[in-house]
Amino acid sequence: MFILEGLEYLFFSLSETSSGSTTNISTHLLYSNHNFCPVEGGLMDSKLGSAQNTVCSVCKKNVNRCPGHFGYLKLSLPVFNIGYLKPIQIILQLEEMVLTSKVLQTIL
Ligand SMILES: [Zn+2]
Repeated sequence: MFILEGLEYLFFSLSETSSGSTTNISTHLLYSNHNFCPVEGGLMDSKLGSAQNTVCSVCKKNVNRCPGHFGYLKLSLPVFNIGYLKPIQIILQLEEMVLTSKVLQTIL
């Protein structure tokens, strides 16, 4: 039996997120129309990691060695991660915070 004694939600602040990121995702463009290279600030920006036959611009490693790097995206409105809605709803509706490990496996 697993006893859940509490939950603590932690979120990174904007300054923590941006300081731990290698780039700001600022455009929806992936590749340049002129030279077909990844657009800086796009989701294919080389600061996020390497792709096949390219070297990462942050750690200078190839696709087999680069772990990938975080970028951040400033949103104009709050959003929910739909993947977490059901588990959070179930947890918040519980009258007692005693869960069996089987219940946790079901909701997570
Ligand atoms: Zn890298």
